Amino acid sequence: MSIYFKIEKWYPLVMANESLQNEFTKIFPEALINEPLDKYCTLRVGGPADFFCKAKDIETLQNLINFAKENTLPYFILSGGTNVLFDDKGFRGLTIKMDLKNLEIKDEFITADAGVIVALMMNKALASGLTGFEKWFGLPGTVGGAVRGNAGCNGLETKDILVKATLLNPETGEIHEEETAYFGFGYRDSKIKHSNEIILNATFKLKKGEPEKVENPRVFTQPKGMSAGSFFKNPSPENPAGMLIDKAGLKGTRIGNAQISDVHANFIVNLGGATAKDIKDLAALAKSTVKEKFGIELEEEVQILE
Ligand SMILES: Cc1cc2nc3c(=O)[nH]c(=O)nc-3n(C[C@H](O)[C@H](O)[C@H](O)COP(=O)(O)OP(=O)(O)OC[C@H]3O[C@@H](n4cnc5c(N)ncnc54)[C@H](O)[C@@H]3O)c2cc1C
Repeated sequence: MSIYFKIEKWYPLVMANESLQNEFTKIFPEALINEPLDKYCTLRVGGPADFFCKAKDIETLQNLINFAKENTLPYFILSGGTNVLFDDKGFRGLTIKMDLKNLEIKDEFITADAGVIVALMMNKALASGLTGFEKWFGLPGTVGGAVRGNAGCNGLETKDILVKATLLNPETGEIHEEETAYFGFGYRDSKIKHSNEIILNATFKLKKGEPEKVENPRVFTQPKGMSAGSFFKNPSPENPAGMLIDKAGLKGTRIGNAQISDVHANFIVNLGGATAKDIKDLAALAKSTVKEKFGIELEEEVQILE
């Protein structure tokens, strides 16, 4: 059983067309073929991407999208990989890893490219005497991922400090700048989640402060190890997903090498060597048990790729 998954994990079931692969690596010299995706996500599962390339600038990003469109390849935008679950079979198409990394600070505003790690942006802000991000200590992922999912913690959401962001419409190639209202932010939700627009950069408004007085408020009650953070959205403040899964008696439940964390029941952790199927089976078990016991439908926060 484990050997079967190992093989499936590393080799695509259907090899991509070889001449297309050659054309791809010729146009994009840094591109990779059959690149294992597990190393690009915090859950550490997932088979290979047929085509994989980092986009270090907007032009490369546009060229990669055009390549995918011209060759009718599905494509997927990957950033920090802290909120995705790849399939054991990998991704039959092009995975574009956002690697745009410029960052600029002007007065109380910080503008960061989508590929900038949130923690790095926070450090740069503090080093420039700007405060306002401190509730986000320990928030994983990139600026692009944070805007798309309205990420946040300790009561501070992306929408609270975002001023504007620049987007790419992959259909038309049009680049446009939009203010906060455009994004229709909700709890771990935004308009971008339901469209195919790509976030290129975002500007946040901070305050002049005394960074040395800033304290790290994050209470580390989260499980350590390989996870994608909260697996499900909280159905309501009174009924957090972790509490429901815990009350359903599933805390610590294991399938293969994946486990519903015994620290926080809304985390599914890879204990080492788990497959995406182990994780999906646990998620399905959590959903069906919570539905059966409490009549509440859990909705995934993690982006699952089939
Ligand atoms: C241990 C742990 C703790 C966590 N705690 C929290 C928490 O407290 N609060 C919270 O909100 N989240 C939390 N998360 C989840 C995660 O940190 C956030 O969802 C984060 O914003 C995802 O960013 P990313 O760059 O990793 O996105 P990815 O995981 O790479 O991508 C997530 C989705 O966003 C899309 N996407 C990424 N970049 C772009 C872009 N530039 N344009 C358009 N779409 C894009 C991807 O296609 C994908 O659908 C946690 C995760 C972990 C592992």
